[in-house]
Amino acid sequence: MSETMNTFEAQQQGRPTGPLVQGYEVIIGFETHAQLSTASKIFSRASTAFGAEPNTQACAVDLALPGTLPVMNKGAVERAIEFGLAVNSHIAERSIFARKNYFYPDLPKGYQISQFEIPVVQGGVIEFFLETGKGADAAREKKSVRLVRAHLEEDAGKSLHEDFIGQTGIDLNRAGTPLLEIVTEPDMRSSAEAVAYARELHKIVTWIGICDGNMQEGSFRCDANVSVRKPGAPLGTRREIKNLNSFKFMQQAIDYEVRWQIEQIEDGHAIEQATVLFNPDTGETRAMRTKEDAADYRYFPDPDLPPLCISEQWIEQVRGLMAELPRVMAERFVRDYGLPEYDATQLTQSKAIAAYFEETAKACSQAKLASNWVMGELSRRLNTEDIGIAAAPVKPAQLATLIGRIVDNTISNNAAKQVFDALWSGDGSDVDAIIDAKGLKQMNDTGALEAIVDTVIAANAKNVAEFKAGNDKALNALVGQIMKASQGKANPQQVNDLLRRKLAG
Ligand code: ADP
Ligand code: MG
Repeated sequence: MSETMNTFEAQQQGRPTGPLVQGYEVIIGFETHAQLSTASKIFSRASTAFGAEPNTQACAVDLALPGTLPVMNKGAVERAIEFGLAVNSHIAERSIFARKNYFYPDLPKGYQISQFEIPVVQGGVIEFFLETGKGADAAREKKSVRLVRAHLEEDAGKSLHEDFIGQTGIDLNRAGTPLLEIVTEPDMRSSAEAVAYARELHKIVTWIGICDGNMQEGSFRCDANVSVRKPGAPLGTRREIKNLNSFKFMQQAIDYEVRWQIEQIEDGHAIEQATVLFNPDTGETRAMRTKEDAADYRYFPDPDLPPLCISEQWIEQVRGLMAELPRVMAERFVRDYGLPEYDATQLTQSKAIAAYFEETAKACSQAKLASNWVMGELSRRLNTEDIGIAAAPVKPAQLATLIGRIVDNTISNNAAKQVFDALWSGDGSDVDAIIDAKGLKQMNDTGALEAIVDTVIAANAKNVAEFKAGNDKALNALVGQIMKASQGKANPQQVNDLLRRKLAG
C-alpha cells in the first residue's frame, strides 16, 4: 500500500492547486461503482431487474453454493470495453479475477469476486468544464481528471434495517450484479470540481448506455476519498466517504469533511485513515470503521475463473458498434457548425439535447443562434418546469422557423421570446400566425419610422443636447422613447443607426 501512496505522491507533481480552504489544499480521489446494464448477473443467469421480492433473484452461483461455478457474462465485458474506449484507456489483453475476502451479513459467501492486480481497463482521462464564480466573476476552467483503472466486480446483497424491528433483513437479489468500479488519481481540488467530475462521468456512462445512471436505485454510487494538506506538503491521510448517491449530498459531504479534517489538524490531532458515512439529515460525516488495507482482504486469483482475454479484434468490433461519443460530437459541433468549445460541450450534455440542437441548426442554418436558444430560453424553461427535452412543447422545426424570423428581421429578439412563450404554452403552433395575431412584426416602413424619430427628437431637446455634448447614454433614452412610440415594433438597431445619422447631420 505504501507503494501506492508513493505513486500517488509522484503523480501529483506539477498539478495545479485549487482554491485553498483556511490555508489548506483539498485533495480528492473518487471510486465510483457503476452498475452495468446487463439483463443477467455477472457470473450467473439470474435477473438483475430492480425491485423484485427479496431473495427471489439470487441463484446458487450468486451465493457460491458448493458445486457451482461462475461463468463470465460477455455483455459485462463488452460494457467495460466500451467504457475504456470512451475515456481513452488501455484495454488489457489479459486481466485477472481475484477473490477479495471479507465477511459481511450481505456477503455470506465470504468473498467478493473482483479484479485486483490486473484490471480490465487501465488509465484514461475524464475532461470537463468547471464553472467558477458568480455573476460578473463567472468563469469556467477546463479540468482533466486521470483514471487509474476501472475493474469488473460483483455487487453484494443488501441489509434491510427499516422493515424489521430489532432485526436486520438480508436481501441477496443484488448479489452478483455486475459493477464497473472506476478509480481516479487524487486529481480533484475542491468539492465543486469533484461534483463536476461525477456529473461528467455520469454523463459518459449513460450516454454510451452501459449504466442506467439511476442514483436513487444505487446504479451509480460514488466514494469520495478526501484529504487536506498545506500547499507543497506531502499528501495527507485520507478518509473515504462511502456511497454518495446524489450530487447535492456529494458536495455537502465533502465540504463538511474538509472542515472537520482542518479542525482536527488545527487542534493538533492526526487524521486516521477511515471509512465514513454521510448523514444527509445532520449534514455530518461519521466514521463507520477504520480503513482496511489491501493486505486485510487476502486477495488471491479466483481459481474458478480463467484470465479474461480480450483480442484486438473484439475491441474493434465493440468500437464499431458504439455511437458517437460526447467528446467527439462536441469536436464535430466546433468543426462543422463553428460553435465555441463551451457551447459544444454544453450541448452534448445529453444525447437528446444534442439531437434537438442539431435538428434546429440544420433547419435554420444558424448554428450559433440555435445554440443560444437551446442553451438559453429552452433550457431555462426545461429547468423551471423540471421536464426533459423530449417533453418540450416547442419542437426543433418551430424553433428553427422562429430563428429564421429574427434573422430576416421580421421580428425583434424580444418579440421572438413572446412567440416562443406562445408556442410553449400551446397558444398556437404556427410561428407566422402567432406573429400576425400578436402584431409583433417589426416596422419595415422606413418612412413611418423616420417620422417617429423626428417627432421624438423634436420633443426631447434636453436629451438631444446632452448627446451632442458627448453623453452617449442620452441616446438610450431617445431609443427607448422611439421603441415605445412604435409599440416595440421598430428594429432597435435600425433606430440606433437612424438616430445617430440624424443627430450627426
Ligand atoms: P483503496 O483501494 O484501498 O480504497 P487506493 O490506494 O487504490 O485505495 O486509492 C483509492 C482512492 O483514493 C483513489 O481514488 C485515490 O485517488 C484516492 N487517494 C489516494 N490517496 C489519497 C489522498 N491522500 N487524498 C485523497 N485521495 C486519495
Ligand atoms: Mg476503496
